[in-house]
Amino acid sequence: MNPSDFRSDTVTRPTPEMRKAMAEAEVGDDVIGFDPTVQKLEALAAETMGKEAGLFCPSGTMGNSIAVKAWTQELQEVIVESRSHIFNLESTHLTFISRVTPRPLPSRRGAMDPAEVEHFVKKPNVHTPQTTLICLENTHNNWGGAVVPLENFKAIREVAVRHGLRVHLDGARIFNASTASGVPVRGYADEVDSVMFCLSKGLSAPIGSMLVGPKEFIEYGRRIRKALGGGMRQVGVIAAAGLLALTRMTGRLAEDHRRARRLAEALSALPGIVLNPAEVETNIIIFKFEHPGLTVPSLLSELEKRGIRALAAPGGVGIRMVTHKDVDDADVDAAIGAFRDILG
Ligand SMILES: *Cc1c(COP(=O)(O)O)cnc(C)c1O
Repeated sequence: MNPSDFRSDTVTRPTPEMRKAMAEAEVGDDVIGFDPTVQKLEALAAETMGKEAGLFCPSGTMGNSIAVKAWTQELQEVIVESRSHIFNLESTHLTFISRVTPRPLPSRRGAMDPAEVEHFVKKPNVHTPQTTLICLENTHNNWGGAVVPLENFKAIREVAVRHGLRVHLDGARIFNASTASGVPVRGYADEVDSVMFCLSKGLSAPIGSMLVGPKEFIEYGRRIRKALGGGMRQVGVIAAAGLLALTRMTGRLAEDHRRARRLAEALSALPGIVLNPAEVETNIIIFKFEHPGLTVPSLLSELEKRGIRALAAPGGVGIRMVTHKDVDDADVDAAIGAFRDILG
């Protein structure tokens, strides 16, 4: 029996249609020339987000790394949300690659207070780095897939415009945000200068993320990508799956959100689980686990024995579960059953 895998939406396997498109993809050398399938994907990504140009990247981390590097210089500061993926989970490319100072700020479920952002904007000064970039994240992974409201984007954009700053969106799951809020992805993208989004998570492509933004930024980004070792040759083979991710897979995300909510509602009734199901807006469930007899690792191993895979949440005091294409209603029922068996 295959385990029900709730560890992440990154575990999604390519669809049969993707496999076929990959096998038949028209390809070229995307480093010495171009690859027609990649070009198609880059154009579609840019158009979808209402930006001038797009760049296919091997990972979301590389897309974000390129964006920060392209928008900043040394002796500058970048405002990030304190629980953001860019600040916490990307092996410090801010300092390692871009050599900028991160300025982490707290937030309400991923939405930083625009007044506080403005308070921390620094002018060039002999003592301090100059603030030049603000990074946003939507949906917010470590805030349990929270949707950052469009009004917050607009308010932060106003601060950025007032001070001549750029705004980059880590939109790894921007289609989940759009599905949950009803705001088109372009609505969010219009408020920022650049967007990174992942094809390889809920959209189920095997590999790949897109960076979109102004033409010059993307041209410079292409040079940075090569310098980072991200120039790939007949990469149309994976871009072909990306095209289907973008055209066929965004419409089904509401299903994942429904399942996550149903799972959260059932789990929130069990002893030891601290979870408000109303806060589960998209496909990520993060809950605190406080139990007299069980630790997080022991709960995870009891779940594994029952064919349910989950991950410890950052900080190790809770659990993270993610719904996606490869878990269905039966998997959700199996998970609920396993939790009740262990805790009920
Ligand atoms: C997954 C993720 C990324 C990075 O994507 P990788 O392809 O895993 O490098 C960036 N930001 C957020 C919010 C993510 O969830």
